[in-house]
Amino acid sequence: MTPLHILKEKFGYSSFRLEQEAIINSVLQKKDTFALMPTGGGKSLCYQIPALVFDGLTVVISPLIALMKDQVDALRVNGIAAAFLNSTQSYQEQNEILKKVQAKELKLLYLAPESNFIKQLSSYNVSLIAIDEAHCISHWGHDFRPEYLNLAHLKKSLPSVPVIALTATADKLTRKDIVEKLELNNPSTFISSFNRGNIRYTVVPKRNSFDKILDFIEKRKDESGIIYCLSRASTERLAEDLKNEGFHALPYHAGLEKEIRAKHQELFLRDEVKIMVATIAFGMGIDKSNVRYVVHTDLPKNIESYYQETGRAGRDGLDSEALLLYSFADVMKMKRFVTVDGNTEQTEVFLKKLDQMAEYGDLPTCRRKFLLNYFDEATTNYCGNCDVCLTRIELTDGTLLAQKVLSAVSRLQERFGAGYVIDFLRGSNSAKIQEEHKQLKTFGIGADVSKEEWNNIIRDLLAQGYLVKSEGMYPVLQLTEKSTAVLKGLEKVMITKSKEITEVAEPEANYEQTLLQQLKDIRRKIANEENVPAYIVLSDATLLELATYLPHNKEEFLKISGFGQVKIEKYGKQFWDVVAAYCREHNLKSRINLKTPKRIRRERPERETDTKQKSFEFFKLGHSIAEIAERRNLSSSTIESHLAFYVQQGTLLLNEVIDASKISSIQQAIEKTGGNALAPIKELLGDSYSYGEIRMVMAHLEKVRSLQ
Ligand code: ADP
Ligand code: MG
Repeated sequence: MTPLHILKEKFGYSSFRLEQEAIINSVLQKKDTFALMPTGGGKSLCYQIPALVFDGLTVVISPLIALMKDQVDALRVNGIAAAFLNSTQSYQEQNEILKKVQAKELKLLYLAPESNFIKQLSSYNVSLIAIDEAHCISHWGHDFRPEYLNLAHLKKSLPSVPVIALTATADKLTRKDIVEKLELNNPSTFISSFNRGNIRYTVVPKRNSFDKILDFIEKRKDESGIIYCLSRASTERLAEDLKNEGFHALPYHAGLEKEIRAKHQELFLRDEVKIMVATIAFGMGIDKSNVRYVVHTDLPKNIESYYQETGRAGRDGLDSEALLLYSFADVMKMKRFVTVDGNTEQTEVFLKKLDQMAEYGDLPTCRRKFLLNYFDEATTNYCGNCDVCLTRIELTDGTLLAQKVLSAVSRLQERFGAGYVIDFLRGSNSAKIQEEHKQLKTFGIGADVSKEEWNNIIRDLLAQGYLVKSEGMYPVLQLTEKSTAVLKGLEKVMITKSKEITEVAEPEANYEQTLLQQLKDIRRKIANEENVPAYIVLSDATLLELATYLPHNKEEFLKISGFGQVKIEKYGKQFWDVVAAYCREHNLKSRINLKTPKRIRRERPERETDTKQKSFEFFKLGHSIAEIAERRNLSSSTIESHLAFYVQQGTLLLNEVIDASKISSIQQAIEKTGGNALAPIKELLGDSYSYGEIRMVMAHLEKVRSLQ
C-alpha cells in the first residue's frame, strides 16, 4: 500500500497536510529525518505511516508516560497494533508486551526516554526510531529534559536504523543542537509553515480580568478550553471562582497529588470537565483535538512558550481562539521570574525573550505576522484573523466629547493628569477628587462615557495636538492653541472609534445542530464503553462533517474526513443509524455533493479601500507619513499613494499633505515636462523633492482638471 492508501484506509483522511508526504517519503528511504512542524500539524502520522509500511517495529520515544496511553488508544481504534511500555505497568503487563514484541505482533511501541528497554533495542528487529518532542534534548530549547540525553548514543548502537526527530518548537540554535546530540546522519530536514490559520489571536488589557474571562467563556459554554495562570495558587483560586459561577472547571498544577492531577486531566480529556485552569505543567503532549480556546491570564515568558501553549487549541483544524490578558505590570513582574541567579548571560537571553513577548502584547500590527516572523517565516502584513486585522478604526465627530475634556482641563487649571480628569468628568465619588472640584459645573458631565473610552479620546486629542502632556514624573494635561478654537466651537474634532468586525467573512455550510448533539451523545456512549476519550473515537471535525453533509451510505461515509475503514466497520452503523433517523424525521437528503475537500483557511487579502482608508485615518489623527509607514509596516511611498488618492478625491487638501512652499515649483516642473512620467519631473526638481510629493501634486491637478 502507498502512504496515501494508508492515510485513507487506516486514518480516514483524504490528503496529506503540509510536508507530511515528503517527510514520510524521506523516512521510507531510510534516511535520518528532522521534521519541524507546528503543534497540531500532524507529526504523528509522519512515523505512524512508515511504521505500517516497514516490516519490523517502530519505536516511539515520547516524553510523558501519562499520555502514551492516549496515543496508543488512538492507534488501536484505527485497528493498528500498538502498545506502550513504562514503569506504571505491572511486571506482568510489561512481560506480556515484551512477548508481543518478540512475536512480532506489534507495529509501534511507545517508550519514555528513561526506559531501560532502549538499551536492548539492538536485539530486536527495529525498523524506525521516532523521537517526539525532540527539542527536549537541547539545553538551548525552552524545555530541556535530562532524560533525553539517554538518546544521544542510540545512533551508535543502531547505526542502520533510521531516526526521525520531531518537534514543534526549535530556533536555529536548538535545531542544530538536536541534530548533533542525536548524532543524526546528514538528515533530510523539513520545516513546515508555522501558521495556524484556524487560531484567532487576541490581546485584551489585563483589567477586570475575571469579568473578561467570564464574558469569554460564557459565549463558549459547550466548548473545551485551557486557561493558563502563572502560579499554582491562582489556578486553584480561579477554578474555584469559575465553579461558583456555574462553570465546570478544575485546576491542574505540579503541586497537586499525582492521582488528583491524573484524574483532572482524564476528566478534561473525556469532555466531562470543560475547563482546565492550569499552570504550564499542563499540556505538553496533550493531543486532545477539540480544545477550542486557550486563555493566558498572565504573560508567558517567551514567544516559544506562548506559541506552543496556544497551539494546543484547534488541532482538529476548526476555528479556535487564543486570548492573552496583557498588562505592562506583568512585564515588570515577569522580569523577576526570568532572572537566573548567578548567570547573567542566561538572564540576558531570557530578558530579551520576555521583551519580545511584551512587544507582542503591545503590537499595533498583525499578530500572526509577528509570531511567524519570530520563527523566521515571511508572511503578509494582514492575516484577517487576529484582533489587529479585525479591528477597523473609524472616524466620528467627537467635537462635543472633545469640548467636555478640554473644558474640564481648563476648569482644573491644567494641573491634573488624565486619571484625575477622567474621574472628574465621570463625577466619581472618590475621595481623591477635591471637594471644591465637585462644586464645579463641569463635574460629572461625562458620566455616560466609560473610563476606557475617555482614555481613548484623550489619547486621540493628544495625538492631534488639542492637548499636550507636561514632562516629568506626574505629567498633567494642558491646553494648546488649537484647543481654544474647539472650545469656542470654531473647529470640528474627529476622533477614532475602534470597531470590531464581527461578521464571519466566509460562509460556512449549515449544519444540523440537534443532530450534532445526538452524534456527540452516541460518541460519548461509545467512548465510555471503550474506555477512551471521546475525541479518540471520532474528532469534533468529523462529527461536524456528518451533521453538515448527512451521508446516506457507506460510500458517502468514506468521504467524511476521519472515517477510516476500521472506524467505519466498528462504529459506522451506530452513527449511520442516528443520521438516517434524523434525516427521515426531518425529511432531509444527503448533502454529500456539497462537500469539497476540507476547507483550508486562506489569508484574506486586505481590501484596497480598507488599506487606503486606514492610512487616511492615521493621517487625520496627526501622524506623519513616516510614522504611518512604520506603524502599518508599509513603505512611505505606499502611504503616499494612499493619501494621493484622497487628494484626488478632494478629501485632503494639497497643503495638508505637503509643504506649501514646494507646491508651485512642483507644479512648474510638471508643466515643463508635460507631466506624463514621474522620473523626468523628479530629475528636474532634485533630491529635496520626493516622488510622493510629486504624486500628490499630480493627484491634485487631476482633481482640478476633472472639475473643469
Ligand atoms: P502534532 O503531533 O504535530 O501536534 P498530531 O499528530 O497530534 O499533531 O495531529 C493533530 C491532529 O490532526 C490529529 O487529530 C490528527 O489525526 C489530525 N491529522 C493529522 N494529519 C492529518 C491529515 N493529513 N488530514 C486530516 N487530519 C490530520
Ligand atoms: Mg505530537
